[in-house]
Amino acid sequence: REALAGQIKVVPQLPGWVHLSSGKVRELYAPAPGSAWDGEDVMLMVATDRISAYDFALSPGIPEKGQILTQMSLWWFEQLAAEGIPNQVVSTEVPEAVAGRAVIVRRLQMIEAEAIVRGYLTGSGYAEYREQGTVTGIALPEGLKDGSRLPEPIFTPSTKAEQGGHDENISFAQLEQTIGAEQAARLRDAALKVYALAEQRAREAGIILADTKFEFGVDAEGQLVLADEVLTPDSSRFWPAESWEQHLAEGTAQPSFDKQYVRNWLTSPASGWERSSGVVPPALPQDVVTATRERYLDAYQRLTGEALEL
Ligand code: ATP
Ligand code: MG
Repeated sequence: REALAGQIKVVPQLPGWVHLSSGKVRELYAPAPGSAWDGEDVMLMVATDRISAYDFALSPGIPEKGQILTQMSLWWFEQLAAEGIPNQVVSTEVPEAVAGRAVIVRRLQMIEAEAIVRGYLTGSGYAEYREQGTVTGIALPEGLKDGSRLPEPIFTPSTKAEQGGHDENISFAQLEQTIGAEQAARLRDAALKVYALAEQRAREAGIILADTKFEFGVDAEGQLVLADEVLTPDSSRFWPAESWEQHLAEGTAQPSFDKQYVRNWLTSPASGWERSSGVVPPALPQDVVTATRERYLDAYQRLTGEALEL
């Protein structure tokens, strides 16, 4: 992990801001004393081009991924705000050096769990279903396949691991024990509501929002607020709607506009990497980097109807 930290950490110095902490992908800053934002309860959240998979920061990064994710999140925040969903955004007027890839956000008390919603069965959800017929303890009908649409979207929380840790799926009862029954219910209801709005919106754009991970925080009034990044290819699985049925019927992997492409390469024989080895994954080849970048840009364009100006 120490070796990894060295490889991923290039923290830019930004005028008016003091570096606070590094996430897997984002750098967080607080207002510098005497700066314009000093005294406000805000942070500068900068999305880097880092990409993580299977709890490893991979190298190299994906050029301009930070801008793509930031612009996509901002687009969603705006769409969802129009539907009455509160969010963290305060301003997009950020230092020149991080223009387009940073946002000034309300500094929230983050909920210590990832709010995952699944409308379709795949990934770790499908793995649990195959073994036990459940996903985070929720019983599902028999006969579902990898990629099947669920009878209705389900809330499948996970722990939010410290940097370097591994998020584990947990049951709703475990979530209640961690954050309290009332907060757990509020989190579930909020996550399912946002998913339903976004799923419909994505469907209109020809994209299946198979699953997604939200992070919510609590503001000074105790209100649940959508934070971090939302409905991006890092936090979601996006599948082209037109080919879903065919892939489901053939039992082939859904092509996706998201990080699954990188996960698939890593676990393919081409990478020579064994997930269970615990060894740092190999560098991503240039064509995988390029193809990933194109997928992310495709997702942006399909969703918003416009190409991203970079
Ligand atoms: P991953 O997103 O892959 O799980 P991570 O949790 O390390 O990794 P990053 O996106 O790299 O996440 O870092 C962002 C950090 O900032 C996270 O710890 C997130 O919970 C936190 N965060 C996001 N939005 C806010 C906010 N509005 N207020 C306070 N903290 C926030
Ligand atoms: Mg995050």
